[in-house]
Amino acid sequence: MDETIEQLLHLSAQTETLMAVYDGDDRLRYANSAFRSAYFIEPEETPLWPDLMRRNFDLGRGTVIRTDNFEEWLRSTQSRRGKIGYRAFETDLSDGRWLWMTEAVQKNGWMLCIASDITRLKVHGRTVRQDRDQAIKASYTDELTGVANRRFVMARVEDMLEAARHGSSGCLAVFDIDNFKRINDRLGHHAGDLVLRDFAHRIHQNVRRNDCFGRVGGEEFLLVMPATGPEDALAMVERMLTVIRFSRPLPDSPDFSYTCSAGIAACVSTDSASELYRRADQALYDAKMSGRDRVRAA
Ligand code: GH3
Ligand code: MG
Ligand code: MG
Repeated sequence: MDETIEQLLHLSAQTETLMAVYDGDDRLRYANSAFRSAYFIEPEETPLWPDLMRRNFDLGRGTVIRTDNFEEWLRSTQSRRGKIGYRAFETDLSDGRWLWMTEAVQKNGWMLCIASDITRLKVHGRTVRQDRDQAIKASYTDELTGVANRRFVMARVEDMLEAARHGSSGCLAVFDIDNFKRINDRLGHHAGDLVLRDFAHRIHQNVRRNDCFGRVGGEEFLLVMPATGPEDALAMVERMLTVIRFSRPLPDSPDFSYTCSAGIAACVSTDSASELYRRADQALYDAKMSGRDRVRAA
């Protein structure tokens, strides 16, 4: 086995194929020299993926990112990154190379990335394929907040239930902003939209990579937590509610604060998505009835 690993490392140092491994926190734990040189990573460096992308974007190197708002791009990409077992896509580098990138993720969150150079292949139709990828991305993203939308997040609920049928744990949390109508009525719809964005961005920053967070309707959001028991889910959502409580999202009203309530339900092996959602919604209702700004578990 030791010899195999040794040879594997030796081969990966020689090949032009890009290879990298990220852990569940999205920190780079291994990258061969082809990968390091494409993305400007020093030999011993182990950056977090978002930091690496931000650094290269600022310096105009590495991945070509077609946006004028990097943080928005990052949010939308992170909302989908590492949440399904396997993904493959075309991506281009600032040096003009095109790569066919694949990402394989296992349950504990570790991810294997392998990319090969396809610059000379398939030039024809590339714009069409890029437009298609943009359209797919848009179809999974909530326009106002940039996080995953209902379609994407409900598909992750189905994935979690499929795993639950094979004995995995998992929890679903429903969030609803408290007294949101009053915020709209008193401060206007624009302020309401700023609060929605603030909420989505703050929660997003606290979401683990294997979890999926998205907006499912007006001021209602879901957090899908595969392989997570109710105690851990509860602790995580409590922390999120605290983050929201301390937020001051309106520059023109620096004292304004808001809260949200949440309901959590744990998967059972016979659940359908609508049954699970209904229990989480019932728990949310309990949280609202007990005074808001709190989380209840079904
Ligand atoms: P509760 O604490 O019981 O949840 O009270 P609430 O006022 O939040 O009650 P409710 O859920 O009924 O109100 C949601 C409001 O959210 C109604 C709608 O006008 C508003 N809303 C829905 N989508 C948007 C949006 O995209 N932007 C803004 N600004 N408001 C929205
Ligand atoms: Mg509501
Ligand atoms: Mg509400």
